[in-house]
Amino acid sequence: MTESDPKVTDLLKTVFGFDGFRPGQGEVVEAVTTGQDTLAIMPTGGGKSLCFQLPALLRGGVTLVISPLIALMRDQVRALRANGVAAGALTSGNTEEETAQVFDDLHAGRLKLLYMAPERLASGAARHMLAGADISLIAVDEAHCVSQWGHDFRPDYLEIGRLRAELDVPLAAFTATADAETQQEIVNRLFAGVQPRTFLRGFDRPNIHLAFAAKNKPRDQLLSFAAARKGLAGIVYCGTRARTETLAAALGREGHTTAFYHGGMEADARREVEARFQREDGLIVVATVAFGMGVDKPDIRWVAHADLPKSIEAYYQEIGRAGRDGAPAETLTLYGADDIRLRRSQIDEGLAPPERRVADHGRLNALLGLAEALGCRRRVLLSYFGEESGDCGNCDLCQTPPETFDGTDAVRKGLSAALRTGEWFGSGHLIDIVMGIRTEKVLARGHEDLPTFGVGKDLSRAQWQAVFRQMMGHDLMRPDPERHGALRMTQEARPILRGEATITLRRDLIKKATSRPAVKM
Ligand code: ADP
Ligand code: ZN
Repeated sequence: MTESDPKVTDLLKTVFGFDGFRPGQGEVVEAVTTGQDTLAIMPTGGGKSLCFQLPALLRGGVTLVISPLIALMRDQVRALRANGVAAGALTSGNTEEETAQVFDDLHAGRLKLLYMAPERLASGAARHMLAGADISLIAVDEAHCVSQWGHDFRPDYLEIGRLRAELDVPLAAFTATADAETQQEIVNRLFAGVQPRTFLRGFDRPNIHLAFAAKNKPRDQLLSFAAARKGLAGIVYCGTRARTETLAAALGREGHTTAFYHGGMEADARREVEARFQREDGLIVVATVAFGMGVDKPDIRWVAHADLPKSIEAYYQEIGRAGRDGAPAETLTLYGADDIRLRRSQIDEGLAPPERRVADHGRLNALLGLAEALGCRRRVLLSYFGEESGDCGNCDLCQTPPETFDGTDAVRKGLSAALRTGEWFGSGHLIDIVMGIRTEKVLARGHEDLPTFGVGKDLSRAQWQAVFRQMMGHDLMRPDPERHGALRMTQEARPILRGEATITLRRDLIKKATSRPAVKM
């Protein structure tokens, strides 16, 4: 199943709010949708639920989902319904009304997904009901619960194999437990010993070097990154269409062969760039995220982000286009306070429902956590996708550990300046206050009388800018779209303000900023 299938892309976007698949999801969705018995082993947080929810929408009939986690089932049903998908659950937590409704919907052929707790399977009534319904697929979450030797053994899971035989429909089993013994038990008990299509996929791409840098004359940063890789095929991702054109021109002036690419171009012109990229050696394509879906070039040697991507998933997908041949590839992601503000406001001002906005902020936070990481970036990245790993030795932070300092005091001063001014101001004014600068705005508002006025003279403006950027990066403060982007404290910041938690900030970024204080970060 590919993202280039418009139906899939459309469902991904409209029902789930995703721009594409995560690594591994596409193949599993394809296998499950085409009715193959499937065993998928994916790390927790890797995105298993999409691998049966999307096929459920693409297939006829009802998908029966068996999961031991009642709260999780209820969450999924609520989220699906909120996005217009007919889903229902039969669990011990149901009211009689809810149960009656689910039965009605099922009989009327209205349901697409029916979630069920395993203990229900033992009852004759439930089996009778399932036999009479148009079940076309069984999805088993936490499939390792069938293993008698595991910690999570659920005797009722043993019924699933029998149910599958009775209904004679394909079965898709999901688990995060990867050991061979558990896998064999799943195959024996759920698939009657016949090996299903099995997907076991980690997220690591060890040949890709990871690096981030705070913006500091970003165009120069980018040009010097490209200069060191002259003649090698690369992609530069930009936040806006206009920027793709100006950056491509700037790179061209440095003697690179370049093309730009964005969604505002004619289809023919876009295809031409795609074909050139495939064919020519060492072309640099400067593009928006529109570039990539159809690109399948194995020897892309580098990917740079001139602006911060919108989420950790987008980041992973975009850097993942480099080095598909397994040979070393390099990446660089530039980011600054303006990027954070822009990404936040795009989420806040978008049309997505509130639940999804919260999730989008979360995915942006994960990316910012990666940007401001203090240790191995690959560890941070993989742990987001549920995989544990050691330090990789192939990222900027493994190679040059950042200098850090206790930023608690600076952060508290910054927070206090915001709170004492009613959370109505942006970082520029707050920095004037802590630095004790009598600007017109400060005087007009009487802010020179605040106890916070001038408490931060020990840091330069550039240093304060870096502190505020990191505060935003750690989600201690967020711009409020209803207050023209004024910074407001988040719940995360409370423990620090109250002196119950400390925070470590990166010094190296501050130093870099100090050496060229005039730039916009
Ligand atoms: P698992 O069941 O594997 O632990 P989930 O299915 O709950 O994981 O997904 C984990 C998180 O990843 C969820 O917040 C989900 O919204 C998000 N997610 C899953 N697939 C995608 C995708 N293709 N793009 C972006 N986010 C995704
Ligand atoms: Zn590392």
